[in-house]
Amino acid sequence: MDRLHLLLVGIDGLRLDLATPDRAPHLHGLMRRGTTTRMTIPEPTISGPSWATLLTGASVAEHGVVDNGFVGSRLAAHPDLLSRAFFADPTRTTFAAAAWPPLVDPAGVGPIVHTRDEQRRAQQHRVVVRDGETYGYRTTDAEIADFAVAGLMSAGPDVSFVYCSGVDEAGHVYGAVSRQYVAAIGRADEHLGRLLAVVEHRAQTGERWLVAVTTDHGHVDGGGHGGGEPEVVASFVARAAWNAALDAWPPSIAPTELTPRLLAALG
Ligand SMILES: [Zn+2]
Repeated sequence: MDRLHLLLVGIDGLRLDLATPDRAPHLHGLMRRGTTTRMTIPEPTISGPSWATLLTGASVAEHGVVDNGFVGSRLAAHPDLLSRAFFADPTRTTFAAAAWPPLVDPAGVGPIVHTRDEQRRAQQHRVVVRDGETYGYRTTDAEIADFAVAGLMSAGPDVSFVYCSGVDEAGHVYGAVSRQYVAAIGRADEHLGRLLAVVEHRAQTGERWLVAVTTDHGHVDGGGHGGGEPEVVASFVARAAWNAALDAWPPSIAPTELTPRLLAALG
């Protein structure tokens, strides 16, 4: 049987309660096809610590990423989901695309997704980086989505992580209860929809796919995060599968469980 392919989509700063079916039809289509598991993000509800935990399975105390500066991080000792999938099976190919440099940029702080230069040279690991902090996420998220669509369509990597941050950016600038935040949810959902169309297409040839969507934190109504408000700590994992069955998860999991559980699903 064909091996299971995994696509993890990260939508930064997404409040699921504001991503209603009319605003995020593709996300809700995925949720209807599969299942949604709740997660509660521990403080500090900041992207650096939270994505480091979600993508490595290590707690903040273990990986040492306490803010977005990454000073004193122990990420070298805590390989990410893609790296662990490769180490478990060195024939696996991986793909990461993000416009928040600390996630993937070899030249920046971090990165959380290990650079694995040998595998990049061997084209077993591919990284697409843009700088949304400087150039804005509306443009760079769209470029990331373009490259991810092309990368998944052409190569069908075994494990992919694709990330967008326009929702978080809109939350900071306009607040979460704003038409701009809603519009940003719509754009992120369109990116997700294009990725799901690629998965659907590849699955038609019999490939087995697991898609998971998650977020690192929410936002208070007026915009911002970092604390322990219910709307800020609330996260989720939406999962659906093509030509494969979803493994059973409890109704809620800890953020440290995400990577081990996804690796377990890969087998
Ligand atoms: Zn933020």
